[in-house]
Amino acid sequence: MKKSLGEFELIKRLASRLPAPSGEGVVGIGDDAAALPTKDGVMLLTCDIALAGRHFQPGITPMADVGWKVTSSSVSDIAACGGMPASALISLGVPEDSPQEDLDALYEGIAEAGAHYGFEVLGGNVTGSKELLVDCFMMGQAPRFIPRGGAQPGDVICVSGTLGDSDAGLTLLGNEPQGAAEQALLRRHLRPRARTDLVPLLQRAASAAIDISDALASELHHVARASAVQLVVEGRRVPISSELRSFAHARHEDPLQRALFGGEEYQLLFTVPPHKAPQPGGEDITVIGEVREGSGVLLDGEPLPGRGWDHLRKDQPSGGE
Ligand SMILES: [Mg+2]
Repeated sequence: MKKSLGEFELIKRLASRLPAPSGEGVVGIGDDAAALPTKDGVMLLTCDIALAGRHFQPGITPMADVGWKVTSSSVSDIAACGGMPASALISLGVPEDSPQEDLDALYEGIAEAGAHYGFEVLGGNVTGSKELLVDCFMMGQAPRFIPRGGAQPGDVICVSGTLGDSDAGLTLLGNEPQGAAEQALLRRHLRPRARTDLVPLLQRAASAAIDISDALASELHHVARASAVQLVVEGRRVPISSELRSFAHARHEDPLQRALFGGEEYQLLFTVPPHKAPQPGGEDITVIGEVREGSGVLLDGEPLPGRGWDHLRKDQPSGGE
């Protein structure tokens, strides 16, 4: 069988079949969300798929969590562009033998997320399917679009929250969590919180932003490439929770590996000019490095591989890009 393209190569190839978007201020393929200019800012558009067996495990992942997570992942893309979510359309591919309670629970999770983030579901579509598939199309708005490509030499690199927790939670999925730390990690995986609370900060200060859906390492590369700069990161500054530390300690692992290469964190990675750098001890924002002239990403002086989750490959994490 012919070797398939990686996710990003495939997107590039498909995009090349389409005319470039027309119209001033329109943002097309290649950022966290697409954008259309409006009279007071931009309308943001994004979509995400959750597929049974790929993004969740039927019978193991609670269906309410699937509903929460697929919508949170779209909200996270809207937030990464500096916007707040407003409206969603949900489409389903439903196998004939899907238990009705599963679909009810799925929509309870979606409704919970809508109440939490402030979006409404206005429609969707349903079809038969071999596996259960949930597609979320989300629309939002922002006073200005914050791109991946706006980082400037001299800016500082910030991340929100702690990283690697969701990845540890994924490892624990399907097992009864032992103790509060494992419970917290599992919850970070099943109920990620998209960082809409940081949208005002991004609007005020960010030169570039991206959400950490695939992995910190690969998102750093996306920002470096889109901004045509070099990102220089210090490993000891990457924020790691006490829960992940104890999890990793018990398994003789280096927690930094999960923080760098683990996916589905839904935290934000962004750059700000130095005079707008967040003060230590304030919001849960950590400065992890700085932007320089050049290209690529350095971790403690060494090139950092751009590994992360590639949605088309089975052997996760995928090779570099
Ligand atoms: Mg994203």
